[in-house]
Amino acid sequence: MKQTNNLIYFDNASTTRVNPRVLEVYNQTHLSSFANPSSIHKEGQRAFYLLSRTKEDILSLFKLKDYEVVYLSGATEANNLAIKGTALRYKNRGNHLITSTYEHPSVLEAFKQLENEFGFEVTYISPNHEGLITKEMVESVIKNNTILVSIMAVNNEIGSINPIDDISNLLEKYPKIVFHVDACQAIGKLEKEINYSKIDLLTISGHKIHGLVGSGALIKKKKIDLLPLNSGGGQEYNYRSGTEDLANASALLEAVKIALKDQKKNYMYVKSLADCLISYLNVHSDLFELNSPEKINPYIINFSTLTKKGSVVVEALSNANIMVSSTSACHSSKEKGSYVVKEIGKSDKVSNNTVRVSLDYTNTMEEVDIFISTLDKIIGEIR
Ligand code: PMP
Repeated sequence: MKQTNNLIYFDNASTTRVNPRVLEVYNQTHLSSFANPSSIHKEGQRAFYLLSRTKEDILSLFKLKDYEVVYLSGATEANNLAIKGTALRYKNRGNHLITSTYEHPSVLEAFKQLENEFGFEVTYISPNHEGLITKEMVESVIKNNTILVSIMAVNNEIGSINPIDDISNLLEKYPKIVFHVDACQAIGKLEKEINYSKIDLLTISGHKIHGLVGSGALIKKKKIDLLPLNSGGGQEYNYRSGTEDLANASALLEAVKIALKDQKKNYMYVKSLADCLISYLNVHSDLFELNSPEKINPYIINFSTLTKKGSVVVEALSNANIMVSSTSACHSSKEKGSYVVKEIGKSDKVSNNTVRVSLDYTNTMEEVDIFISTLDKIIGEIR
């Protein structure tokens, strides 16, 4: 799957180009099985059966038993359902919630709402200088009345990979606490797979893995109950009322299959691209400061421009047909600077001049070379 013409797309953490195979599955399913899965006639029942099969297949790809898949429009909706649904359902057990300060806005804003509108107490853990939330940090803030911990697997701005297995092992000792993980930047992009079977609620998103925008899921342990956020006909185990979208579900399954298939090989390939870029940045440490942690996730490389405004460099790259971000696309228009980079202890100057390059296995070494020479020229020209 090649990139289009001479466009260099290094913004894959924002969204990825849809895989044609995903579109094919979507079209075929829509055309062949369009009946409402909740209709009681034969075609409806067939659609319901196919929908159930997609769920079984997704669970088996993640090696999960006693879980269920709730199809949603993406990670934002999954995070909201996981966080508010848990807090509001289990509020009689306790009032204390834990998350981190550098989560995606769809997590942070959900917690803020619970804090401000519903009277929950929320502890926000700051990451360390490597951009990590450790098991010890989580353990030190657990209280008798804690009912929910939500920690992302991979940070979407700096790419740090949290020790999710350590945290889930810790939380096993606290059966009253529900553990939610926003894994949408982790699926298909890790060297060592997470043990998903110790996570209570898992958020995934289709468009981060060459699937469709508007597809995603919350994968949940069956025994966890959630307060539904929208009321209606009771579809998706009553967690997401509204007509089920079999074609969208089938497309998500296809995207997950593709993402997990060559995960190791893709990781090594993307690492070779990232290594090249990182050595360039390190050689020019008078011009750039690397913000991604030392043990780098090759898919997301974050650095700051020290001599020029980051946003000007991002714009100049865009004019040269190279797409990167200054911060995450979800808040770049609203806010100046990166709250994530600030959270790992960087100065205002560094946080306000970030550039995020998010790579993918569809990128090439030639593109990395063009990126480096273009960046070199841009920094030289506006120096
Ligand atoms: N969580 C993380 C970590 C993300 O990177 C994103 C996308 N920027 C989201 C949630 C929101 O994803 P979606 O667009 O699927 O709602």
